[in-house]
Amino acid sequence: MTFTPDRPLRVLVVGSGPSGVFAADALIKQTDVPVQVDVLDRLPTPYGLVRYGVAPDHLKIKSVTAGFEKTLSDPRVRFLGNVSFGTDLTYEEAKAHYDALFYTFGASSDRRLGIPGEDLTGSMSATEFVAWYNGHPDAAAREMLLHATGVAVVGVGNVALDVSRILSKTVAELRESDIAPHALEALERSPVQDVYILGRRGAAQAKFTTKELREFGELHISDPIVKPAEIQVSEADEAAADSTVKKNLEVLRAFAVRTPEGKDRRLHLRFLVSPVEILDDGEGNVAGLKIERNRLDDAGNAVGTGEYEVLPVQMVLRSVGYKGVQVAGVPFDEKRGVIPNESGRVTGRVGEYTAGWIKRGPSGVIGTNKADAVESVKLLLQDAQDGTVQPTDQPAETIDALLHGKGVDVVTLADWKALDAHELSTGQAQGRPRAKVAHKAQMLEIIRGGRG
Ligand code: NAP
Repeated sequence: MTFTPDRPLRVLVVGSGPSGVFAADALIKQTDVPVQVDVLDRLPTPYGLVRYGVAPDHLKIKSVTAGFEKTLSDPRVRFLGNVSFGTDLTYEEAKAHYDALFYTFGASSDRRLGIPGEDLTGSMSATEFVAWYNGHPDAAAREMLLHATGVAVVGVGNVALDVSRILSKTVAELRESDIAPHALEALERSPVQDVYILGRRGAAQAKFTTKELREFGELHISDPIVKPAEIQVSEADEAAADSTVKKNLEVLRAFAVRTPEGKDRRLHLRFLVSPVEILDDGEGNVAGLKIERNRLDDAGNAVGTGEYEVLPVQMVLRSVGYKGVQVAGVPFDEKRGVIPNESGRVTGRVGEYTAGWIKRGPSGVIGTNKADAVESVKLLLQDAQDGTVQPTDQPAETIDALLHGKGVDVVTLADWKALDAHELSTGQAQGRPRAKVAHKAQMLEIIRGGRG
């Protein structure tokens, strides 16, 4: 075999989110091919969407990071944080130094609605809002004007439920989450009273899951409001409903007959409505959202009825799906927002693989990425065993010299652990689970301080 314990298969995993760590884990869990894995991230922090996407009040979901840390602590694995693929390390440099490249950089952009008014102040993607409240360094400096009394959230997936729930919780509830300190402070002053979640199709077509929907019935200061007429489903949809749809309908029907308790805020779950225009107050700010009532055609698509309504909102969050972005040197299917691939092998490239959202699109829960990464790793191992993937002639150490020579301050797992400990202890001193550091410069300052 080409690869031996003395000269293991050297893999660069680009992206340390769930798919990247699951891929590293699958590589070290097998014994057919000796491996050495570098897991790269452009941020100084690992775990991608677990840290920056999962809702701050869903702390249990984040416990998956204990297993991730174990993987990154394996002697055959290194975490290389604060290294941007494409700039700090170009495709050509990576290709010359590693035997295989494994792309798991997710889908960091968002889809647009394509309606007038989408660029008004107060209109943004849920992706941006989530990044802001989760303390993502790209969004930390963003000034978030939370003066809206009405907010519309477009889309009925789990991300839409996450942002709506965060807008509907008390500060006391949010303090128990790991929401970024700047967001906690801003949300404390938020005058929001009505949040409208808008599904363009019917209740049977909603993408959210029941556990997340049920949480709306348990909020301290917000009543869930559902119009009975909007959740009526056809006999065909009722018959075709899987267990999630059945449970969702059950919860929605219970909300529809429930008498609102007169709480300070209301969460309106609306169906069969599409946004058609975001209205301007004359000064470039959102002043309302014009929506059109829909019906479903025989194929289950939403069709406008010509009946309109204006929602009194000053903020519109489109939550209609994430979208992958192109990285220099890596092939990209612009239309689908993914790397073109066959079951994880990058189309037209030898020794290049992909997993996660940048492989299949933005769908599924964290665990979905495990099977997805395993599928791609199997192909890589197959190619390493049959000689398709060949060892490069560069010695392993040259990658460190290359990054050092470029002045890149590589963040190691030990560095991240120091930052993690800092966030946990600062948070605990404030009676919170964690106080996230959101600015990259500040993260690096704490890390450098910890190196002594
Ligand atoms: P999603 O589940 O794909 O939902 C997107 C929503 O946007 C759908 O309701 C879709 O409606 C709607 N939509 C798309 N284009 C639209 C348009 N032009 N106008 C109006 N509505 C439009 O995406 P997501 O919420 O971003 O979630 C991404 C993935 O992460 C999902 O797999 C989700 O389950 C997962 N996630 C899970 C959790 C959790 O487990 N707690 C939390 C967050 C995210 P149509 O169906 O009509 O296209």
